[in-house]
Amino acid sequence: MKSFPIIDLHQDISYYYVSGASGLTFKLGDFDVDMPGRHGDIPKFREANVRIIFSSVFCLLSTISPRIKEQLKRGYAVELRAWTPKATHTTALEHIKVYYKLAKMYPDDIVLISTRDDIDTAIRGDKIGFLLALEGTYMLEDLDDLQLYYNLGIRSIQLTWNFDTRYAASCMSAKDYGLTGEGEELIREANRLGMIIDLAHASKRTHLEAAEISKLPLINSHVNPKKIHDIPRNLDDEMYEAIKKTGGVVGFMCDLLGKKKDIETYADSIMYVYETFGPDILAIGTDYFGLIDSAPPRGLEDITKFRNLFNLLAKKGMSQTDIEKLAYKNALRVILEHAKNWKTKIP
Ligand SMILES: [Zn+2]
Repeated sequence: MKSFPIIDLHQDISYYYVSGASGLTFKLGDFDVDMPGRHGDIPKFREANVRIIFSSVFCLLSTISPRIKEQLKRGYAVELRAWTPKATHTTALEHIKVYYKLAKMYPDDIVLISTRDDIDTAIRGDKIGFLLALEGTYMLEDLDDLQLYYNLGIRSIQLTWNFDTRYAASCMSAKDYGLTGEGEELIREANRLGMIIDLAHASKRTHLEAAEISKLPLINSHVNPKKIHDIPRNLDDEMYEAIKKTGGVVGFMCDLLGKKKDIETYADSIMYVYETFGPDILAIGTDYFGLIDSAPPRGLEDITKFRNLFNLLAKKGMSQTDIEKLAYKNALRVILEHAKNWKTKIP
């Protein structure tokens, strides 16, 4: 039997190619090859029944700055390589080009999602849909740049990575100022364009204020609850509540789970949010390819293992209908809500 269809709210596929798979435990290789140990590729996505992947456009470069290393260590409670937002336009474009190239190299398997028709193609299972998503707003020198990135195919925008922006405070901010005036405008403009606003890596105040302003459902694409692992990067109950209030979803991440990093803890993380906030907020946001200096949970080494997760959740008492919501239906609901605003003609 085929597993449930999957929509994954966060993978860093372009990072894997732009950075030559550095820092990851597997080798660089063609995307139509089932590479041992790789988190995903066309054969694995097909086997796992993946329909849509939010494909992250990262815009940061490696740095050896001790100050940044220290800041990140506070946020994650582990040491990992440091990054800095530099040459962000150029870096973002380089990542976007990787997705364009993959779609061109594998036209029978990959579609870049920019229209309602593309969503239907992906959901039917004809092709795997890549929904391009900016990780951070560092490349937006002014609000008009949002339209430019929309025209390039971007359909989701994360307000911050681990550094503050001129629009919003990040989860590792030294002073949580929430949204700036420009940040409020950015949200209105993203709503108008139908770009899905992603609060991953954003501060608590940013979550609460964005939920007040956004007219469309918000997401946090890759995160876990502080109840499972209490670090600044994870969410407290009020933040889940804020996203829930907008009709949005939160993606469970294959990291930030604490010491016992395995499929059981990942399932516990889902069950906690399920029992506290109900089934409509649940989604998957693996962060595969983006788990730098860190391995996925034992039992979820790649995307094909998610069928085992669904079985485990069923054993823990989750209904088939609710597992289906987690796997793709909730995320699809949010995408379709935004697609109503998508215009194919450039104004
Ligand atoms: Zn991230």
